[in-house]
Amino acid sequence: MPTITELRASYQSGDLTPGDAIRTLSKTIDNTDGEIKGYISYDTDAALAEAQNVDLSLPLGGVPIAIKDVINVKGQPCTCGSNFLDQKYTAPYDAGVIKKLRAAGAIPFGRANMDEFAMGSSTENSAIQTTRNPWDTSRIPGGSSGGSAAVVAANEAIAALGSDTGGSIRQPAALCGCVGLKPTYGRVSRYGLVAFASSLDQIGPMTQTVEDAALLLQAISGHDAHDSTCVKDAVPDYSSFVGQDIKGLKIGLPKEYFAEGLDAEVKNTVEAAIAQLESLGAEPVEISLPHTEYAVATYYIIATAEASTNLARFDAVRYGRRAPDADNLIDQYRRSREQGFGEEVKRRIILGTYVLSSGYYDAYYLQAQKVRTLIRKDFTEAFEKVDLIASPVTPTPAFKIGEKSNDPMAMYLADIYTISANLAGICGISVPCGFTQSDDHKPLPVGLQLLGKPFAEGDLIKAAHAYEKSTTWQKTAL
Ligand code: GLN
Repeated sequence: MPTITELRASYQSGDLTPGDAIRTLSKTIDNTDGEIKGYISYDTDAALAEAQNVDLSLPLGGVPIAIKDVINVKGQPCTCGSNFLDQKYTAPYDAGVIKKLRAAGAIPFGRANMDEFAMGSSTENSAIQTTRNPWDTSRIPGGSSGGSAAVVAANEAIAALGSDTGGSIRQPAALCGCVGLKPTYGRVSRYGLVAFASSLDQIGPMTQTVEDAALLLQAISGHDAHDSTCVKDAVPDYSSFVGQDIKGLKIGLPKEYFAEGLDAEVKNTVEAAIAQLESLGAEPVEISLPHTEYAVATYYIIATAEASTNLARFDAVRYGRRAPDADNLIDQYRRSREQGFGEEVKRRIILGTYVLSSGYYDAYYLQAQKVRTLIRKDFTEAFEKVDLIASPVTPTPAFKIGEKSNDPMAMYLADIYTISANLAGICGISVPCGFTQSDDHKPLPVGLQLLGKPFAEGDLIKAAHAYEKSTTWQKTAL
């Protein structure tokens, strides 16, 4: 598929119209999505109708963007990958990011599959379908934005939006070989994003190139009066960071991120990428993020606590699947939630309710908040010495479907390198940095993670683009 930049150029030269692009996408989806299962639904006619009135002079004029099925688009279903909402809920309004996308001329097209309510790392928790990794369809595409990553990688989308609470943009991007950027908390509006953990959630771009990530981030960033955590600061011109050189940029290598548990193939690939950054003029500096070992535990207390309160709104009164034959109102809530939520969602509601309950609140929730502060301080101190931090995105390449689905702890550990950025509120990007070389399996994509200071998305774009331009990974066709 053309990139956003290429597509815009074909519109400008008159070689293609947005209608052509949507029809081509739709045909490709018809041909390949039966196997990939990246989309929950898509409405070609609605997108074609929108394409007729689009202003091609706008920054994303006529560009179709796939949307993770947790972001409200007016008039379209929004299932959140859950039986609770499955095709029974139609979004009554556009999310903040969708309003901004439309203002930039983009056309939301297709609802991308995800783990139920964004809880998971493989999309196996979707109640609707399990998405397959386009590089090896016996493997997971990552999660929770696995559908968004897979459709970009499988040439079924130009670009997509995902959401990242603990790694859900960067991890699937790494495992599917595309670019995924998690903005700083507060950079992008969360209005109309169905909430998982409100102090951690951010929406961000998933694209074929870093240049496209800059364009899409530009379009969705900025203040939204409907989200009080979304900052008012001016949005920098992200595309101006594309093409800047990185001489003298100090890149921190946290020793805790290259320790035990990191797959040798991933380690070698990421180390080669860091050597490449060095050859481009960056200066590697060894650093320490000493509280890393507590990040998974801290995240799974805070995220589940917030999820348990956020998901209390699903009562099946105004929307969602209502259980039949309830005896009374309380029974209706109980049965609807029992029948509507999947196992992982229930596990998290129970865990979250427990850590917030009186008697355990201080021991778990309050303690986790204190450790969160220490994790944030680790980053503040590191960023006094370095401009960016580089690391792997995931400890292993894409694993087999079913391999970890009965072991929640193993699944949670897959987030070890990504969740700290959410706890600290900083920004991060995953950029493709090569493939595994083992003879035991097909070549699988590996991602390089770059983490930046709060609101320094421009630095991520600068370094990721310099790296991308100096390699051929982005052009490696599926
Ligand atoms: N895998 C993590 C979890 O299950 C992160 C999910 C996310 O970022 N939405 O919570």
